Amino acid sequence: MFIREKDKNQPLPQELINLLKFVWQNDYCAFYREKFSKLGINSSKKIKTADDFSKLPFLTKDELKNRSPFDFLFIKEEDIQRVALTSGTSGRPAMLFRGRNYPYITPTAFKEVGAVRPMILQSPFQLPSVFFRLNKIEFSIITGDIHNLALSSFMIEQLKIDSLWTTPTLAFFLLKHLNKLNPALPKNIKLLLIGGERIDFKKKKELKKAYPNAVISVSYGSSELAKVGLQCLNLARDYSDYYHLRDENYIEVINTVTGESAGLGEKGELVATTLKIFDTPLIRYRTGDLVSLEKNNCSCGIKGPLLKVWGRVNFDMARVAGFELTSWQVEKAFEKFKNYLKEDFEIHIFEEGTPENPKIRLNLKLVLKDGIKDEIWLKNFIKENFPKAWRISPRLTLKEVIRSGIFLEPEIDFVESFEFQGKKRAALILH
Ligand SMILES: [Zn+2]
Repeated sequence: MFIREKDKNQPLPQELINLLKFVWQNDYCAFYREKFSKLGINSSKKIKTADDFSKLPFLTKDELKNRSPFDFLFIKEEDIQRVALTSGTSGRPAMLFRGRNYPYITPTAFKEVGAVRPMILQSPFQLPSVFFRLNKIEFSIITGDIHNLALSSFMIEQLKIDSLWTTPTLAFFLLKHLNKLNPALPKNIKLLLIGGERIDFKKKKELKKAYPNAVISVSYGSSELAKVGLQCLNLARDYSDYYHLRDENYIEVINTVTGESAGLGEKGELVATTLKIFDTPLIRYRTGDLVSLEKNNCSCGIKGPLLKVWGRVNFDMARVAGFELTSWQVEKAFEKFKNYLKEDFEIHIFEEGTPENPKIRLNLKLVLKDGIKDEIWLKNFIKENFPKAWRISPRLTLKEVIRSGIFLEPEIDFVESFEFQGKKRAALILH
């Protein structure tokens, strides 16, 4: 794995230098050449250190979504083998082609538990992005149509399947059908490789109860990036959100506000550059996932820091101190101030204090409407009235939780605009 560190002079790995050369000289797609030359970067030759690399612009999911897959293809059309559909959790998904040389992952976990009849059970829409050839392991691939899992169970029984690569939802729904057919079936499963959806430790424990003999290993990644993190058997046993990093990517964890590299243990957005995907290479791709790199105490021998996944960045929701803050509630509260403020806002959330005695500090970044001046009375007016208007739970306003000491009085800053453009700004940013 390659990680951008705080050391600005850190040389780039050769794989990354090769990738930059590849996209610059590519005959099939001028996407990066055009994007970079708009910023006056006209050659890949000068990009040699982590600092040089950090001057390249980010790539966002919107740039991929708003583009035909044919306009983001760096290989010959006849070399396309399949198409990957990104998860469409918010709106239109992106489609990316995959060529013959796409780096299929090696799920060593199947070998480690001695599984001989593994199966991939995925929803029909996931299947185009599922891997068919996996380092000499033969997989049965079965569509996990949620309405037809009785049939999937029948196949699992008949094919003597002993391990599954699936999503948490499918694994839970499948259970009822397996048990109905034969209560011994869930006990035959040695490994559940879980991906595609997030799963917390509580849910993971429930799965373990349902499939008592299975190692529940969670993988982390997305269809555009392939796998970023995988769990060894130690991590699979003890955690749901810690992963070993795979070496297919160059990883940056950036402070979501400054774009600077975050240090060990600091939360930030995962930015990944694909080193081995040459059909649709992604350079400085903002995943939108909030992660941190953590000290690796795992005894399995895999080197490098661990990746901890905390959730989503810049999403419309943040969980903090038992409250679920959503951007629509904030928008509603801001309606009171619409004569003064533009719709864009950022709320930076800092968790201070201790887990038993949390103190939540909110920093509101607001944009004044044209013609409205930054004056003390206005700041005080918002400071006084916004906490009364923001209902942070069905029963409580922010004002009330400030009174109870969990939240501090919000800080208010008027700003001209926001640093990162190109994403819908409805941001609750957890630090
Ligand atoms: Zn390990």
